[in-house]
Amino acid sequence: MMSRGPASWSGPEQAAYNAQMNKTVVAYAALPPECLERLGATFDLRDFTGRSGLRRNPDFAAALAQADGTIGAGLVVDRALIAQCPKLSVVSTVTVGYDLYDVDALTERGILLCNTPDVLTESVADLSIALMLSSARRLGELERRVRAGQWKRSVDAPEFGSDVYGKTLGIVGMGRIGAAVARRAALGFGMRVLYDARSAKPEVERDYGAQRRSLDDLLRESDFVCVLAPLTPETEKLIGARELSLMKSSAFLVNVARGKVIDEAALIEALRERRIAGAGLDVFEREPLAADSPLQQLDNVVLVPHIGSATHETRFAMAELATDNLIAALTGGTPKAMVNPQVRSRTA
Ligand code: NAP
Repeated sequence: MMSRGPASWSGPEQAAYNAQMNKTVVAYAALPPECLERLGATFDLRDFTGRSGLRRNPDFAAALAQADGTIGAGLVVDRALIAQCPKLSVVSTVTVGYDLYDVDALTERGILLCNTPDVLTESVADLSIALMLSSARRLGELERRVRAGQWKRSVDAPEFGSDVYGKTLGIVGMGRIGAAVARRAALGFGMRVLYDARSAKPEVERDYGAQRRSLDDLLRESDFVCVLAPLTPETEKLIGARELSLMKSSAFLVNVARGKVIDEAALIEALRERRIAGAGLDVFEREPLAADSPLQQLDNVVLVPHIGSATHETRFAMAELATDNLIAALTGGTPKAMVNPQVRSRTA
């Protein structure tokens, strides 16, 4: 590599700069130009943003073979992919959830995984509330009727929805987003908040009057159940046929976490047979949702295409944080968010 940088640099400074510029970074998420420029100014950037079918792309495989770091989202990073990356030391995901990453395999290889918590919390909480409101007030179904020219008379009981204000909300997974939903529900909608998590959350209990319940009791007591737990081996199909049968027939289920936390076939049956009143879904077992999914035929479900964090402000903040994380990790700094920080203490 040619010498670059300020003419006044000493030999060691130039050497450090060259070493950094020799690091290869592979980008494969939609990143704003500002982030790509920063990455390109700091590293040898291989830009695969906006490309699909990456796992079958030989250029992508060749870039991974050289990569010191990656930044992206939506790609399954399993043992097979990690084995293709002999130099890899940092993986920066532009997501808070990391269920697509084999964290054990990364940690065994000493590869640091960084994610983007906090910056998306409020947007995802907004969408959770939006799905509660739209499923309870049947916004999708009734809007479709208006557009189809079927608004011929004043609405009557068959079109009525359910109140949200003052009802009981059960939150499954009381983490960052769960707490932000609890705040909106308790302070904005006068709701009684119940929650299920692995550990007690005294602050949410103190600030929003939330009460901890077993999952079964939460399902029995809630008018709205909002799923906000991460997808892990323990939470896969956490809400199945048995759990759905515990819910009130007047209750609504909202999933903004990951599709596989709910048994989708069981949910379809419960919705079809009106064993629960409705659902609002941002995430699905398979994404994009197939055009022939039975969910598409059901009126009592609101479907949106995984848009929890999809606002201009939040997606920009996530891209910036993921970029900051990667640059810090590859230049000797401390990333703001690390999933397996023990990797760094081992190598420090
Ligand atoms: P977080 O702060 O880590 O919170 C996760 C919560 O889930 C914690 O309270 C945790 O309990 C709880 N939990 C874990 N395992 C559980 C189990 N078996 N049963 C019940 N609760 C369990 O994460 P977050 O930032 O709030 O994000 C939550 C999830 O939302 C992410 O993992 C991601 O999958 C999803 N998400 C979706 C979108 C979207 O676009 N739809 C966007 C962002 C995030 P403890 O605290 O007791 O461990």
